[in-house]
Amino acid sequence: MEEKVEEVLDRPHPGIVVAESPRENLWHTVLAQLDDVARRLKLDPGIHAILRQPERELTVAVPVRMDDGRIEVFTGYRIQHSSARGPCKGGIRYHPEVNLDEVRGLAALMTWKCAVVGIPYGGAKGGVQCDPRQMSEDEICRMTRRYTAMIMPIIGSRRDIPAPDVNTNAQIMAWISDTVSMLERKTVIDIVTGKPISLGGSVGRREATGRGVAIVARELLKRRRRRLSDTTVAVQGYGNVGSVAATILQQMGCKIVAVSDISGGLYDPRGLDIPGINRHVAAHPQGLLEGYEAPGVEKFSNDDLLVSDVDVLIPAALEHQIHAGNAPYVQAEMIVEGANGPTTRQADEILQERRIIVVPDILANAGGVVVSYFEWVQDLQCFFWDEAEVNRNLERIMVRSFEEVWDFSQQQQVPLRLGATMLAVDRVARAIQARGIFP
Ligand code: GLU
Repeated sequence: MEEKVEEVLDRPHPGIVVAESPRENLWHTVLAQLDDVARRLKLDPGIHAILRQPERELTVAVPVRMDDGRIEVFTGYRIQHSSARGPCKGGIRYHPEVNLDEVRGLAALMTWKCAVVGIPYGGAKGGVQCDPRQMSEDEICRMTRRYTAMIMPIIGSRRDIPAPDVNTNAQIMAWISDTVSMLERKTVIDIVTGKPISLGGSVGRREATGRGVAIVARELLKRRRRRLSDTTVAVQGYGNVGSVAATILQQMGCKIVAVSDISGGLYDPRGLDIPGINRHVAAHPQGLLEGYEAPGVEKFSNDDLLVSDVDVLIPAALEHQIHAGNAPYVQAEMIVEGANGPTTRQADEILQERRIIVVPDILANAGGVVVSYFEWVQDLQCFFWDEAEVNRNLERIMVRSFEEVWDFSQQQQVPLRLGATMLAVDRVARAIQARGIFP
């Protein structure tokens, strides 16, 4: 049910009362955006129908022998939304809330993301519904290996190339590569990206998503004629994306006044000591902000962070964090989406009416998959670049993509999300048209 903005505005502050209708699901959000874009592009109805359905969906049962001897059966997915522009590409997440529609939505966002930055991939996503925080490293390793064996029929260097996402990392990618290598009796490293450097990973890949977010924020500030040194920033989520974005933006001269993760938030209007916070997180057993203390630093909640008084807000946690309940209270002038799908449709409309500029996920967080692409290219050639080369190419692609989306959106007089999705869907549609329908 659509809610009117006025009704939403009447609600109390989200920090006081949590008010929202049942959470909208990510696949529906993505489909509604696609339908809107199809209408505007006057997309061929056949191509629209193709894009409304993932090409291939695999659900697998993943039995794991737990450390206490018990068997637990997890549910895993790998969904390929489109291979029109090239092999499918996208991460694998481990999270208790992973479900079919979430993975579908994330897979489609990968299709748009690869198209918007012009890298030769389609889109996919995988996930296992589990709580890695409650599991030992050995249990996660066994689950990863069994999940890999189960999705092996559909992944491959020229078919579908997984990568890290929420709660997965280089070590998990190494286990995936090793499992495939053992089963195929040869070394297979180009089947997965985001690997350790020792196993054909790329320098700069770990930092790439956060670096891309920072580059996009900088380009946006330039267009808005804002000085980096006069800009305050809040970052929700202090994982691989949020922490790197905060670190690089601070190096660029911005003042990071608020950060948060699942353990809570930190706020200092004079600017947080990001290197100090990074040292604390590196030493924390679960890599959390929890327990960080410094003079002048206040503790506050995730809800407070999203509505804090800053110039730039970077949601870099999970989807649907900005919703109809808090969008009316967002004080930031600009939002740069580090996470995938952090804004609901209703929230997007509210932000638009309030003239808050949103750089969408499919552009803002594309740095990760761009350097995944570099990693794949290096693996295929068995020839590795240095960090300066990786970062130079990342910078070039992010700046060019930002300019294309910005100029196209201005020309069409549409918000950046709509502009980026229009550009992306048009590119995918052209590839489908060029291939024709098999047979
Ligand atoms: N999981 C990341 C994303 O959502 C990276 C995907 C990749 O590198 O394939 O963009």
